[in-house]
Amino acid sequence: MTVHRVMALCGDRWTDGGARTWAPVYNPSTGEVIAEVPMAEADAVEPVVSAASRAFTAWSQKPVVERARIMFGFHRQIESHFDDLAELVTREHGKTFGEALASVQRGLEMVEFACGVPSLAMGNALPDIARDVDCETVREPLGVCVGITPFNFPAMVPLWMFPLAITCGNTFILKPSEKVPMTAVRLGELLMEAGLPEGVFNILHGGRPVVEALISHPQVRAVSFVGSTNVARAVHRLAMENGKRVQAAGGAKNHIVIMPDADIEQAASAVQAAAFGCAGERCMAASVAVPAEPVADAFVEALRNSASKMAVGETAERQDVDMGPVITREHRERIETYIDVAHDEGATVALDGRQVDYGGNGYIIGPSIIDHVGPDMRVFREEIFGPLLSVVRARDFDDVIELGRHCNFGNGASIFTRDGYIARQFKRHFNAGMIGINVGVPAPMAWFPFTGRNQSFFGDLHLQGEEGVGFYTQQRMTLTRWFAPSDHSHADTVWKTGRHH
Ligand code: NAD
Repeated sequence: MTVHRVMALCGDRWTDGGARTWAPVYNPSTGEVIAEVPMAEADAVEPVVSAASRAFTAWSQKPVVERARIMFGFHRQIESHFDDLAELVTREHGKTFGEALASVQRGLEMVEFACGVPSLAMGNALPDIARDVDCETVREPLGVCVGITPFNFPAMVPLWMFPLAITCGNTFILKPSEKVPMTAVRLGELLMEAGLPEGVFNILHGGRPVVEALISHPQVRAVSFVGSTNVARAVHRLAMENGKRVQAAGGAKNHIVIMPDADIEQAASAVQAAAFGCAGERCMAASVAVPAEPVADAFVEALRNSASKMAVGETAERQDVDMGPVITREHRERIETYIDVAHDEGATVALDGRQVDYGGNGYIIGPSIIDHVGPDMRVFREEIFGPLLSVVRARDFDDVIELGRHCNFGNGASIFTRDGYIARQFKRHFNAGMIGINVGVPAPMAWFPFTGRNQSFFGDLHLQGEEGVGFYTQQRMTLTRWFAPSDHSHADTVWKTGRHH
């Protein structure tokens, strides 16, 4: 059987970018190789940047409403291929079909947001800021922008970046995760079918050499990155050294607090969805539950009961289970190791995801719950990025706030309570950038920025929302003064003769 070869997009050409090696793309549900992706080297970067650079002048000068109209066309394309895109996400990533549909929907909302760029990218004006002087700012595109994306949301995370960048008038090079390149390519095809001129959107596959060459290229103006913290930090540093604008979102360790007054069944069900949805491979997944001591036993018991009944298995289109596989065999083994590490460090394994044999060759592991975790343990400190939940029991509310201070990351944190004052204290003081009150996964929709902090974000302007527009544009300020004519008949003369003198 010939394996499908994924291509890169350079201007109007689908190409292998001269790659000397190809990496396998797996279906994580079955372990089958479903495609091969060309792993480009640094030398593949020049032609792609040139294509994006050449396209920039004409594209940036195209009226913004016409650019937005192409985005409306892209929106229609995604809508009419919605299920196919979700199927592709399920096939190469392993999410359940329901999760894949939801992720495409979140991405589509970014396209909707980008369609509003004619309003969003307006500048400001203030007349008579001094005598006869008017001041205005306009937002202009930057040039060639680069996006580097992770494996866990093959459609949504690329869609966080390029629709907005492009509609703002930039050209774009996407470097998707080599583990899930097929959805990105399909999005590229749909974008071209929507009438995007050649060179405005390009795709390059590969790993570190390509990423570093892209970031260092003199004609690249801005870098958007989403991935793990160590790589985010390195990308941010390299981009800064090369004078680029950069936003780099990293890993996370998100807490869900369950106060004594919360409805325990409701909270357990929200924690289950937040911790084990997408097999825990979400940067907004709950990875630490913090029940108040008086309700901790009841909470852990309720969660253990329902999580142990989750249907875990292979995922495919319209064949939903509650939880699918993780991305690779190595990743599953890494998650399994953490269960032993936690046990050795003195925690209690309340539910062991390794216990059920799911058969087949997929990278499937069940949900795990580790109880009596302390803030010095590795399962608390390190991002595991799988269906493994640590439980840290809190003595009181101060303990909760203190726990947040121990966490190096700073994406999301949620609290389940009926007490408005406690909710307010949590919102004001917990060490995280995105807060949920009785919401398990406090991920903002396209219209709001994705406000991770600490080791979860490096840069100034976040992805999504108005900060996204700010990131993909630069402001130009103009001060204007027209001197009043000394001769008061001047205006009359111009009016009558049509001539200045
Ligand atoms: P990753 O860091 O391994 O890879 C991300 C991208 O960087 C990929 O395109 C990859 O090819 C590239 N890359 C990998 N190593 C590199 C290196 N040394 N130098 C340059 N580029 C490199 O991340 P992943 O495993 O694909 O994704 C999971 C991670 O992404 C998790 O840590 C998760 O929390 C994070 N994530 C964060 C957010 C957020 O908004 N904060 C969203 C989604 C995922």
